[in-house]
Amino acid sequence: MSKLADTDLAQKRVAVIGGGPAGLFAAERLRSAGVAVDLYEAKGSPGRKFLIAGKGGLNLTHSDPRPLFDSRYRERQAQIAHWLDGFDTDALRRWAQGFGVETYVGSSGRVFPVDRKAAPLLRGWVRRLKERGVRFHVQHRWLGWNDDGSLRMATEDGEVAVRADATVLALGGGSWPQLGSDGSWMDVLQQRGVDTAPLQSANCGFDVDWTPHFQQRHAGAPLKPVVAHWRDLDGQPQQLQGECVISEYGIEGSLIYALAADLRETLNRDGHVTLELDLVPGREESRLLAELGRPRKGRSFGEHLRRAAGLDAVKAGLLFEVLGKDAGNDIAAVARTLKRLPLRLLRPRPMAETISTAGGVRLEAMNEALMLNAVPGVFCAGEMLDWEAPTGGYLLTACYASGLRAAEGVIHWLQR
Ligand SMILES: Cc1cc2nc3c(=O)[nH]c(=O)nc-3n(C[C@H](O)[C@H](O)[C@H](O)COP(=O)(O)OP(=O)(O)OC[C@H]3O[C@@H](n4cnc5c(N)ncnc54)[C@H](O)[C@@H]3O)c2cc1C
Repeated sequence: MSKLADTDLAQKRVAVIGGGPAGLFAAERLRSAGVAVDLYEAKGSPGRKFLIAGKGGLNLTHSDPRPLFDSRYRERQAQIAHWLDGFDTDALRRWAQGFGVETYVGSSGRVFPVDRKAAPLLRGWVRRLKERGVRFHVQHRWLGWNDDGSLRMATEDGEVAVRADATVLALGGGSWPQLGSDGSWMDVLQQRGVDTAPLQSANCGFDVDWTPHFQQRHAGAPLKPVVAHWRDLDGQPQQLQGECVISEYGIEGSLIYALAADLRETLNRDGHVTLELDLVPGREESRLLAELGRPRKGRSFGEHLRRAAGLDAVKAGLLFEVLGKDAGNDIAAVARTLKRLPLRLLRPRPMAETISTAGGVRLEAMNEALMLNAVPGVFCAGEMLDWEAPTGGYLLTACYASGLRAAEGVIHWLQR
């Protein structure tokens, strides 16, 4: 990032609200341009969700080549591709390297810091921002605007008004509200005429109406490997192999998160959605039928399933959930069901417990520089924008890239 020796910019003051990766990265770029930056964060310290992401190893980005990478952002890929043109996977890895944090590509193509931790990176980042002159104001919750255009901040000592030449909002989505991003900004922006899409669960599990018996015996059991079959929103059949977990309320895990957007949107549109699971990938139905048709020699049907089809207890339990306890009477139905076990999903899990959220400020409500059409001088970045992506590092990458885009937008706007 080049430092612009621009005396006009040095006299400008920008408020960045939200101390997640999008806000921190916007602050970094703005400061490098010589702008005075005040960063306001509702919680007692910045980056709490970034730290939680570190618990899972901090999947910073993904090694997918572009345009495959862009396609992860679904219907928003064209717009997000522009952000990624300014800051992509390689740029993010180089940025981390600047803190002495080396990254590596895991077997799934996901990119992690070598130590798989977020705390050292966040500590180094905040320290560097402070050294460069970004002023942090924690325990400052933005409430909206006063009539004179100043920003309303709730602090421990009461409400204060803050003046800024431009503002970057990077307030996060609506998941894990205890970490600070609770989506309460939606009302404020809607009242200012900003077009928003409702926040919804993304990268989430789904409720399934398990029988108490199945729930008690198998909650927590991993289901692997399985192939999921579903239809996308255009009705096209899709399939993906992976792993999931049976939970007390339903089903979750990386495979389910990867399909969650299609499943959720189908539920929204049709009121119902059925996911089909191939519990025995690699075995043809005809072979299964032959193996299951062998004499049981007095063994229970469960034991027979284990020996003949390699089914563990949870997969057998799922079969009984669907076909009932007399499943063994119809071997053809068993073979068919094992290849396409139908699971009726009732609803996505609540936003508060999901990894990320869809919805937020519609991209059409902003210009290319991410400035709100309805509120000139106010830019938005990060997960609060209406895009979604599966887990895999795509979330953080787009947060960084949009933070940079918004900051560049502010710089141009201040120089106009
Ligand atoms: C358990 C978990 C694991 C994850 N793991 C990964 C992963 O490995 N890889 C990946 O790519 N993504 C991961 N994510 C998602 C990723 O952490 C988020 O997408 C990312 O942090 C969003 O960045 P952001 O800056 O837009 O918002 P946030 O990180 O949510 O930051 C927004 C900040 O704004 C503050 N704020 C909100 N409202 C106000 C207000 N009114 N006034 C002042 N401040 C306010 C909040 O306190 C918060 O600090 C994970 C998420 C979770 C929950």
